[in-house]
Amino acid sequence: MREPLVLDGFVPYPADVAEGYRRAGYWTDETLQEPLFASVARHPERTAVVAGDEIVSYGELGDRVLRVAAGLADLGVGRGDRVVVHLPNVPSFIVVVYALWELGAVPTFAPAAHRRTEITQFVELTEARAYVTVSVHDGADLAGLAAELTAARSGLRAVVLDPDGGGPELDRLLAHTPLAHERRSSPQDVALLQTSGGTTGRPKLIPHTHETYGHSVRLSIPLCGIGAHSVQLIAVPVCHSMAVRSPGFLGVLAAGGTVVLAPDGSPDTVFPLIERHGVTQASVVPPLLLAWLNSSMRAKFDLSSLHSLHVGGAKLSAEAARRVRPELGAILQQGFGMAEGLVNYNRLDVDDETSATCQGLPVSPGDELLVLADDGTPVAPGTPGHLLTRGPSTIRGYFRAPELNAASFTEDGYYRTGDIVARDERGYLTVVGRSKDQINRGGEKVAPEEVENLILALDGVHDVSVIGIADRVLGERVKAYVVPRDGVDPSTLTLAAVRRHLRERGLAAYKMPDALEVVAEFPRTAMGKISKLLQRQS
Ligand code: AMP
Repeated sequence: MREPLVLDGFVPYPADVAEGYRRAGYWTDETLQEPLFASVARHPERTAVVAGDEIVSYGELGDRVLRVAAGLADLGVGRGDRVVVHLPNVPSFIVVVYALWELGAVPTFAPAAHRRTEITQFVELTEARAYVTVSVHDGADLAGLAAELTAARSGLRAVVLDPDGGGPELDRLLAHTPLAHERRSSPQDVALLQTSGGTTGRPKLIPHTHETYGHSVRLSIPLCGIGAHSVQLIAVPVCHSMAVRSPGFLGVLAAGGTVVLAPDGSPDTVFPLIERHGVTQASVVPPLLLAWLNSSMRAKFDLSSLHSLHVGGAKLSAEAARRVRPELGAILQQGFGMAEGLVNYNRLDVDDETSATCQGLPVSPGDELLVLADDGTPVAPGTPGHLLTRGPSTIRGYFRAPELNAASFTEDGYYRTGDIVARDERGYLTVVGRSKDQINRGGEKVAPEEVENLILALDGVHDVSVIGIADRVLGERVKAYVVPRDGVDPSTLTLAAVRRHLRERGLAAYKMPDALEVVAEFPRTAMGKISKLLQRQS
C-alpha cells in the first residue's frame, strides 16, 4: 500500500484507535471512487445520473471522470492538492469530485450559495491549487471572482464552466485521453474538506479521510434502503453531507442506482421529476418537506414511486412528521447528523411514535456518544444533556485550526457537538436544543459572529448583535439588532442598507439578516455580556 499522505493541519487519529477501527472492519482498504468504478464495470449501460434532459450512463460517467482527471492533472493538480469545488447541482459536480479522488486530490465542498467572502477564505486557508466554478450563479459573477482570485494568487488555476456545468472549459477537459483507473492515493489520505456553517467569524473546514467517509457511506446504504432499484432525488445543495454520503450520491452510485439532480427543491421543480423518473428516495430539509406537504401541485402528479423521505439538517416538528405517510405515501426517515461525522437515522421499520418524535440511532456500532449535564456528569436516559461524540466517522479536529480544536474537542477526542439531546433507553436520540451560538435557517447554518463582524464595518454602526428568531417554515430566521454611533440618524440603518453592504462584501445571501431593529442599547447579562437570550424573548 502507498504511504499515507501527510497533510499539515490534519489532526490524525491515535494509532491504536485507527488500528482498532481497521481490525473491527469499520475502516476498509478502499478509496471513495473505487465503488463507483466497480459499478461502472458491473453495468456500464445503466443510468447513473440524470439532470434536466441529460442522461449519463455509468459507462459514460466513468469515462468522463477519467478524462476530467487527465485534464485536471494537466493543470498541475495531483495527490494532496486542495481544490475548491464551487458548483451548483449539475452532473459536473459529481464528475469533478470523483476525478479529484482519482488523482488523490482533495476537493473542498463550497456550497453554490457562497460568495467572495467565503470562497476567498477557503482558497486561502487550504492554499488551493485550483478553483472550479460556474461563470454565473443566481446572478453572481463567479467568472469575475475566479479572475480576481487567480490574479491575487500566483499558483491558483481556475476552471470556469457554463452555468449548467458544461461549456467549452468542460469540453477542453473532456478532450483529454482518459487516465487509466488506478489507485493514486491511500485510503488513509484526507479525501475531502467539508465546510461548516460554524459558530465563529472564521470558516471551519472538516477533513475526512477515505476511511472515515467510506465507513459512513457503506453503513448508510442498507439503513436507508438503498439498492440498484433506487432512484434518488438530490434537491438540496449537492455538496451537503446528506446529498453526498447520507446516503447521498456516493451511496446510490456504489449500489448501482440512479441519481436525479434537481436545481432546487420547490414543488414545481421536483414533483414532475419524481413522476418522470420514478424517484424512490429523497433527502430533504424540513422547509422543503413543508413546501411539498402544503403544495396544491401534489394532486397533479403521480408521486407513488416515493418509498422513503429522509429528513434532517434541522428539527422537524412532530406534527409535520405525522403527515408524511398519509399525505405523501412515503416512509419518513428522520436523521440527525453533522458534517463533522456522526450520523443517526431512525431505522426504516420503527413504530409511528418513534418515527415522528426521534431523530435516529447512531449509524455505526463504533460511535461513542456521551449525553452530559452542565457539570459534565452523564444524565439519565430521557433527560436532555450536551451531546459529545467520537467514532470511526467523526473527525478529531478541524483543518488548520488549533485554537478552535482546543475548544471543540475534549482531550480524549470527543467532539462537542453543541447540540442538546435526550437519549432514550434504546439509544434513540431526540434533538431538543442547542448550546452553540449558531442559527439554523432551515438547515443552512449561520455563525452570528461572522455576520456581526461584517456589519460592524458599516458606517454608522456602533455595535451589533445577530440572533435567530423563530420562523414557522424555516425554524429560524436571522435578525440583527444594531446600535447606531452617536449622532447617526437611526433611519439610515435600514435592513436594505445592511443587506446591500453585506452583498458588496460578498456574503452568501442565506446569512443575511431577514429582519433588523435599531436599538439604543442591548440587554446585558449580570457579567456585562450581551444577552442573546433576552433579545430572543423581546
Ligand atoms: P451540518 O454540519 O451543516 O450538517 O449541521 C449539523 C448540525 O445541524 C447539527 O449539529 C445540529 O445542530 C443540526 N441538525 C442536523 N440534523 C438535525 C435534526 N434532525 N434536528 C435538529 N437539528 C439538526
